[in-house]
Amino acid sequence: MPKFIFVTGGVLSGIGKGVTTASIAKLLQFRGYKVDLVKIDPYLNVDPGTLNPVEHGEPFVTDELYEFSPAPSFTYRTAEVDQDFGTYERFVGRPIHPRNNITSGQIYLSVILQERLGKFLGSTVQIIPHITNEIKRRIREVAKAQKLDVILVEVGGTAGDIEGAPFLEAIRQFRLEVPRQDTLLVHVTLVPYLPAVDEMKTKPTQHSVKELLSVGLQPDLIVARSKRQLTDSARQKIALYSNISKEAVISNPDLEEIYELPLRFYEQGLDAYILQRLELVAGPPKAMEKWREIVERFTKTKDSIRIAMAGKYLRMGDTYISICEALRHAGAQEGVSVEIDMVDTEEMEQNPSILKGLKKYHGVLSTPGFGSRGTEGMIETAWKCIEEDIPYLGICFGSQMLFSAFCRYELGLKGANSTEINPDTPHPVVDLLPEQRQVTEKGASMRLGGHTILVKPKTLLFAAYKKKKIRERFRHRYHLMPEYVEKACEKGLVLSATDEEERIINAIEVKGKHWIVGVQCHPEFTSRPDAPNPLYLAFIQAILKQKRLK
Ligand code: GLN
Repeated sequence: MPKFIFVTGGVLSGIGKGVTTASIAKLLQFRGYKVDLVKIDPYLNVDPGTLNPVEHGEPFVTDELYEFSPAPSFTYRTAEVDQDFGTYERFVGRPIHPRNNITSGQIYLSVILQERLGKFLGSTVQIIPHITNEIKRRIREVAKAQKLDVILVEVGGTAGDIEGAPFLEAIRQFRLEVPRQDTLLVHVTLVPYLPAVDEMKTKPTQHSVKELLSVGLQPDLIVARSKRQLTDSARQKIALYSNISKEAVISNPDLEEIYELPLRFYEQGLDAYILQRLELVAGPPKAMEKWREIVERFTKTKDSIRIAMAGKYLRMGDTYISICEALRHAGAQEGVSVEIDMVDTEEMEQNPSILKGLKKYHGVLSTPGFGSRGTEGMIETAWKCIEEDIPYLGICFGSQMLFSAFCRYELGLKGANSTEINPDTPHPVVDLLPEQRQVTEKGASMRLGGHTILVKPKTLLFAAYKKKKIRERFRHRYHLMPEYVEKACEKGLVLSATDEEERIINAIEVKGKHWIVGVQCHPEFTSRPDAPNPLYLAFIQAILKQKRLK
């Protein structure tokens, strides 16, 4: 059995528990351990695919699919997981299986369906033990699937949330069932700074620890999120009220660069403390110097470029976090920082000066999306980039908008559109995948996960990947219609990739322009700080080569 590190949150959500968890995983990886990460999301959605991207941020898409079949009457395959998995993959540098995302929706669904099958015949089905047993089973399932040394289990939300209570209870039981040295509990809290009294306030942390203690959980480590480095007196106070030693209180201050966090934790002896507590014997960390060099790439950039991100879910920074990170990874490798401006295409439709303003940018990234809002602005954005020769990368929906623009203005097909946006369009240039026509359910019903892509030689895509066969991740229902693509190719469009059966068009480019590319896949999901995705890298390199605005 591997060791388990549970990570809970206190005071507030959104204080960077995911980055903390990923950083601890990274430190254990430096010590040579095989780690995996699990995220528990206490909401009742079965997976995050049906959540509002503006409220919750994008769902992350894994390469593999998780087949979830609690009863013969219900099976579904999903690759849509919480966006924290993006952080996990970017830190640990390898794909994570979607079974590692456990939601209340999955847990309750499976217990209720089993009840209907008669699995618990004669008993009253209850939160304890049925729900808690199912939670523990799911955590153990991850341990069984592969040989691992340490599994980190992050619990979403904060201690005290009603929804999270069964998970905390399951963790309490889990900790009783295994030897003491096999589990550890890390509690991540917020320590606000009050300028009026020039003091770091530990009271919210004290309350949050009390909350944990009241459900039978004693934290072993406190990670305190704060604006600045934790003061000694704050550290002392937190230790005292949490029944832990001062060394077990770790400071997690605001950082210029998130990838630096494992290094900051290392300086405070976090991994040494964990190893000792879990009775793990390890040599000095390896590959940490390389990581330090990678972090420096991000903090010591020589120049910067400006990219307009054109789309509609722009109210929240997390909505397109994987895209923003992929742009940053590629920029850092090329020695530039990437300033990203969100350009709201819905607003653009009312205010044409926003469209004109695109000329100020070194490049434009057109975003993924669903539904009709803001799409006229996205189509106009694509056409503007073609006209002005502004480097353009269209991701999924963004590539569909590029294609609609090309069909409207280059082929003269007035009103060309995706049937997702206008079911009555005279020119349905983007339409449902054939296998999607009968699908009525919305949950996990898109074409999801990793698929092989065939890249055509002598294309910008081939120049980026330098391979004929690549693999990227997908999340879509609609696709570019081959008969229209064929016509467009006579007018200067380039079909640069398809799926293995050459049925689905996976990428297009515009001939005679500096760099205009649209892809149906989401290459951002495979980008890492130390290994940028080739397509994002090619986009940034093209921008630097064009030297627009210089
Ligand atoms: N709504 C589009 C489709 O389903 C694009 C999805 C996306 O951008 N991920 O095909």
